[in-house]
Amino acid sequence: MTYLLEDITRRELFRNGFFIALGLSLPNLFSCNLENTKTEDSKKTTTKPISIEEKKATLKFIDNYSKWNEKRAIRPQTDYIVLHTTEGGGLGSLNKLTRNGEANYMVDTDGTIYRIIDKDKIAKHAGRSLWNGRYNISTYSIGIEVVGYANQDITSTQYKSLKSLISELQEIYHINDEDVLTHSMVAYGTPNKWHSESYRGRKRCGMLFATPEVRKKLGLTSKPINDQDVSAGRVIVADGYLNNILYGSGSLPETNNHKSKISPTARVEIGDSQTENEFEGFRVIGVDGVTPWEIAGKEYASSNTIYFLKGGKVRRGNQLSKYNLDHLPNGTNILVGYVYGGHVHRNRSAIKICGREWNYPSTYYRFPDGVIKSGDEINQQKIPKGTLVLYRK
Ligand SMILES: [Zn+2]
Repeated sequence: MTYLLEDITRRELFRNGFFIALGLSLPNLFSCNLENTKTEDSKKTTTKPISIEEKKATLKFIDNYSKWNEKRAIRPQTDYIVLHTTEGGGLGSLNKLTRNGEANYMVDTDGTIYRIIDKDKIAKHAGRSLWNGRYNISTYSIGIEVVGYANQDITSTQYKSLKSLISELQEIYHINDEDVLTHSMVAYGTPNKWHSESYRGRKRCGMLFATPEVRKKLGLTSKPINDQDVSAGRVIVADGYLNNILYGSGSLPETNNHKSKISPTARVEIGDSQTENEFEGFRVIGVDGVTPWEIAGKEYASSNTIYFLKGGKVRRGNQLSKYNLDHLPNGTNILVGYVYGGHVHRNRSAIKICGREWNYPSTYYRFPDGVIKSGDEINQQKIPKGTLVLYRK
C-alpha cells in the first residue's frame, strides 16, 4: 500500500482511492463515520453510532478473523445480505472460510456467530454472481454462512442468532427485507458443455432462506418476487427445481438426507463445500472445457476474454487468430469478462489503471516474473514496473 499511495497525486487519491485508503489505515474511525451517516432517518444524531458490538449481551460473537481481513478493501456500497449454507460441519467450514476469507460471518449450529471479515469489507463469498444487472455481488454485499444444508431446516438457536444478526445489519446499512438474498439467487454459470448460454442454477446454496416459512422465522416479510436477470435475458433458468423454490410454490423435501436430488440436466453445485473463490476468475482449458468456446461461449474471441499463453504472453481474444484459438494447449488460463488494463509504469499506477478496484480480490496482477496475485494480496508491496493489471469489466 505504501508504494501505491506515495505514487499517486492528491487529486488521484481523492478521485479514486482516498476513502478506501483511509478505511484501510483507520478502519475504526471509518466504520464509525459510516455508521453515523447511516442513521439519518432517526433522531439519533447526537447518540453513538449503532454497533453490533453493543448487542453482545444477546448475541454470542467470537472473533475468528481471517489473515485476509486486514488487506481487504472496504465495500463501495452495501446493498444486500447474501445467505449461504456450508454443506458441512462447523469446524471444517470455519477453517475453510477463514483460510480464504470467504464470509463476513459464520453462524454455527449452537448459535455462535464467528466474525471472519469485518462487516464493512469485501468477503469473497458470492463468486461468479449477478443480480439486477450487476456482477460480482461480493463487492456490494455482506456474506453470512450458516452451518447447515441448503434443503434442511436450521436449529432454533441458529434462528435466534441469525435473525438478530440480519436485523442489526439491516439497520446499520439500511437493507430492505427483499434485499436479503440467497447465494443460489445470485450465483450464475457461464456457458459450458451443458448450457450454451449463461445460466442461473449454478448453486443451490442457501435456498431454504428463500422459503416463506423460513423467512417468517427470520423476521423477513418480503423477498424478491422474480429474477430480473432472467427477465432481461442475461441468464437462462437451468435448474427448474431451484427456480420453483426461489420464486414459485416449491417446497423443500422433508428428509434427513442432506443430498438434494439433482436433475440430470441441471449440473449444479449444492453449496459451498467446494472452494468458491480461489482464483475464481480463472478458467482452464482441459479442466473447465475443451475449447475456448466451451469456456467463454460467444465471448471467446472478445477483447474482454484474456488468454495466458505458454511462454508468458497475455493476449485478448480479439488478438488471436482462429488457428491460435483452436490450438490452445491444455492448462491455458483464461479470464472471461475482464479488462486488459495494461502495464504499470512510473507515471501509470495501478489506481490510475483501474481506480478503486486496485485492491479488490477480483483484480489480478501479473508480475514481470510471471507470478499472478489478486488485488487483496498486493497492497503492502511494491508493484514493479511492467506489471500487467487485469480487472473486472
Ligand atoms: Zn454459498
